[in-house]
Amino acid sequence: MKKHEENTESEEIKEKPKKKHGLAVALIITAVCLIIAAAALLFIDGRHVRFYLKDDSTIKQEYGEEFKDPGVWAVSNGRLFGEGKRHLKLETAGEVDTEKLGQYTLQYKVRYMGREVSTERIVEVVDTTAPVITLNYTEGYEPDWFTGYEEEGYTAEDNFDGDITDKVERVEYPDRLEYTVTDSNGNSTTVSRQSSFTDTAPQIELLGDAECEVKAHHHYKDPGIQVFDSKGNDLSEYVQTEGEVDYRTPGEYQIRYYIENAQGEVVEAFRKVTVVHNDDFEPIPENEKTIYLTFDDGPGPYTDQLLDVLKKYDVKATFFVTCLNPDYADCIGRAYREGHSIGAHTATHNYKQVYASEEAYFDDLGKVEELIYQQTGEYTDLVRFPGGSSNTVSSFNKGIMTRLAKQLQDEGYQYFDWNVSSGDAGETTKTSVVVENVTSGCRGMKAAVVLQHDVKDYSVNAVEQIINWGLNNGYTFRALNVESPSAHHGIAN
Ligand code: ZN
Repeated sequence: MKKHEENTESEEIKEKPKKKHGLAVALIITAVCLIIAAAALLFIDGRHVRFYLKDDSTIKQEYGEEFKDPGVWAVSNGRLFGEGKRHLKLETAGEVDTEKLGQYTLQYKVRYMGREVSTERIVEVVDTTAPVITLNYTEGYEPDWFTGYEEEGYTAEDNFDGDITDKVERVEYPDRLEYTVTDSNGNSTTVSRQSSFTDTAPQIELLGDAECEVKAHHHYKDPGIQVFDSKGNDLSEYVQTEGEVDYRTPGEYQIRYYIENAQGEVVEAFRKVTVVHNDDFEPIPENEKTIYLTFDDGPGPYTDQLLDVLKKYDVKATFFVTCLNPDYADCIGRAYREGHSIGAHTATHNYKQVYASEEAYFDDLGKVEELIYQQTGEYTDLVRFPGGSSNTVSSFNKGIMTRLAKQLQDEGYQYFDWNVSSGDAGETTKTSVVVENVTSGCRGMKAAVVLQHDVKDYSVNAVEQIINWGLNNGYTFRALNVESPSAHHGIAN
């Protein structure tokens, strides 16, 4: 159109008058035409306002940041009067609220040749800024294996949502922790913590042998374990045990020890316990009448003499021993090797001391157990309380016998009282009375548990006559084991 106009113009200018009369008319017509054409051109030329937008006509503006219009300028494009391009004064209408997401329209207007000319720009206020996660670090913090990593803390802050710490998702991987958060406009951030947050796993160390053999009916005492982490913390109390040894039934048993940490990691160790057949535990014939001779407070000066008598008749008995006569400690070994049962009585036989507390009792018992172990190579399951379970010598410590009896049995011991007393502990010092007390006590009994003391010569001297009486009256003499009649008196304290 512009080109066409230019051509028209030049044609008009080149045109020349030819006749005199017609000349004036022609000139007038020409002048009018020229005026009209100029006016038209001027009018058309006046429409030529051009806007130049810096940046696109649709732009994105980040939420919360200051909005700066990239700029626009407008020029008139008329050339007719040699004006060339001319910058026009602009007015901008519309506002952008950067605190609110959405689409905004800016209108740029100019007035030119009595006309208003305008153009637009679209501004989209958007949130594309990801949240920021800040990890806290505690100086000098070193996690241990058992407790595991304890979160040092973190925060998440977003330009749009504010504090979104509670939206953080925390994922544990073997080598790192990953924290991810997404704001309400879908912008996401992930950070990770790569410090070593697990300690090396500890090892469970077995005390005693990993494989051991025990005779049936001997109470199996687990030798225990120990476990320390790399920082030297004792974790033994957190170790759990699986599997039990049925010490009455020969067979192979496995004990599993394990410890689980806060992450669910498990460290374990195993022990194999083989329970072997024990000839001493043949079932007792139903019609048998049994005498269990038991001797307390030894060994002593008369123990060897007693063992000789028992050997002569091949009679088995039971010795509840003490630590009071170390010179005769060897007798314990001899008695054991000759098939007698060894039980724990007391190390000191000092009532005030032994019954002062549970701890004192087991401390005393432990000493005599060690002596038995030294002499026999085995720990015993058989116990006789100093004074018997019905004693009142312990009444200064209310209820201690009740507590001790329960604890002993819980730990697999059996404690024994007696149902035939020889009277050798005060009632008499005469061998004949001891014989009479024992034989009359046993008479008619299916299972007699006889109390004597091998530290009293007059009592030891009675044993041969008692054996003769028993054998002549159809009794069998046996040593006690954990399955034997316990002849409990009934606890009085
Ligand atoms: Zn005693």
